[in-house]
Amino acid sequence: MTPPLLFPAFAFIFGMVVGSFLNVCICRIPKDESIVSPPSHCPVCSYQIRWYDNIPVVSYILLRGKCRGCGAHISLQYPLVELLNGTLTLLLFLRFGPTLAFAALFLLCSSLVVVTFIDIEHQIIPDEISLSGIVIGFVLSFFLKGHSWLNSLLGILLGGGTLLLVAYAYQRLTGKDGMGGGDIKLLAMMGAYLGWKSVPFIIFASSLVGSLVGISIMLFQKKDSKLAIPFGPYLAFGALLYIFYGKPLIRWYLGLSGFGQG
Ligand SMILES: [Zn+2]
Repeated sequence: MTPPLLFPAFAFIFGMVVGSFLNVCICRIPKDESIVSPPSHCPVCSYQIRWYDNIPVVSYILLRGKCRGCGAHISLQYPLVELLNGTLTLLLFLRFGPTLAFAALFLLCSSLVVVTFIDIEHQIIPDEISLSGIVIGFVLSFFLKGHSWLNSLLGILLGGGTLLLVAYAYQRLTGKDGMGGGDIKLLAMMGAYLGWKSVPFIIFASSLVGSLVGISIMLFQKKDSKLAIPFGPYLAFGALLYIFYGKPLIRWYLGLSGFGQG
């Protein structure tokens, strides 16, 4: 007999340890640096971070957010990413248990965490993540229960195609580039993992939340300050919403509009 909390606790810790690696990806992928070498070091004094200074969240608290070598401030983003990934992993485990679906969605969610933080900071979504994610999502669809390669392929085409069309129309109408190519590949990756039905949901949810946030920023920000918000984080939020609440939300929405009655 194992204590009932052992596996969820393990999932949480595992997610935080992977989150620590995601921090490395977030820092290095935009700079085209290797994510395996050199070992983690302080960007200010190059102090090589020892294993006991690299325990997710705990080390940050013990070091009070400062480098052991030079005392430079360590970004709060590090423990935040670790906590976020730990929490997502725990929630996925509680929902899906020790299944292949859990492993696949864990991969997707971890990729989304990396994409979100890179997009906020650099306004790019690296092809290393989106394009490889499309391939991995498609391959996994052969093995996942309730999924199929056709569903995955349609997800890729619908996800990529819809945003490509939006980008094309926007460009023709305004003469400016609006939607980035990164967003197109990101939604194609989500379609590969989650199937074609997820695509309209993710577009609807991300546009809704994006508009609400955009309007509140317009209302509260000072006139001359300009804040560019990338769309990737909203797509990521839409995908998470679909993973955890997609089915009940779609049922609720169809009920409201009179569809799906009887
Ligand atoms: Zn340092």
